[in-house]
Amino acid sequence: MNLIFLGPPGAGKGTHAVRLAQQLNIPQISTGDMLRGHVKAQTRLGLEAKKYMDAGELVPDDVIIGMVKERLQEPDCAGGYIFDGFPRTVAQAEALSEFAKIDAVLNLIVSDQVIIDRLSGRRVCPDCNGTFHIKHLENASVCPNCGGKLVIRKDDEPETVLNRLNVYRRQTEPLIDYYRQKGLLRDANGEGSVDANYAEVLEALGIR
Ligand code: AMP
Repeated sequence: MNLIFLGPPGAGKGTHAVRLAQQLNIPQISTGDMLRGHVKAQTRLGLEAKKYMDAGELVPDDVIIGMVKERLQEPDCAGGYIFDGFPRTVAQAEALSEFAKIDAVLNLIVSDQVIIDRLSGRRVCPDCNGTFHIKHLENASVCPNCGGKLVIRKDDEPETVLNRLNVYRRQTEPLIDYYRQKGLLRDANGEGSVDANYAEVLEALGIR
């Protein structure tokens, strides 16, 4: 199954995509994680992408499309994959349609207020890529998975969050209609508990 998880920042795309990828034994492909890997390794791509990411803007389409196209050549993608955070523009979706066949697009629906609350409490582990919310952590600075030091993503700072939401509305939300018209869109509620949402995700995708 080749899937896309769509939704605003903080909708839970990553959380559910990781879980479903484990369940289906296919890779979760997060362009955000790939870009952060490039930034950490200080590659040319990472140095170029960093200025957009820190400002909450989108990295140029050609950079993202090239990176994804290469990733899909890896053998682990042969049995399916879940895109998390890609495509984010209609141009990316159109480029994707030339080199991949998508079976379904999951649209996670969450209000702005919930997004702001989630992102402002989000902590991430740069060592294992884990993502947590401070209300579920005993110690807000230690990763419960690997003991690494938790940090606030630079693009989760309050001003950047508002910009990312605007960018989402302007550049990514048109994909909802784009994929609805293709008959691929499946809506799911992204508010409420993680387990309840995940059950909705499975139902929306017809997975038991
Ligand atoms: P994410 O972890 O998915 O929230 O992505 C973090 C940041 O990486 C975004 O705010 C963008 O700057 C950049 N990014 C990730 N995926 C894409 C994409 N498909 N197109 C453009 N920029 C992206």
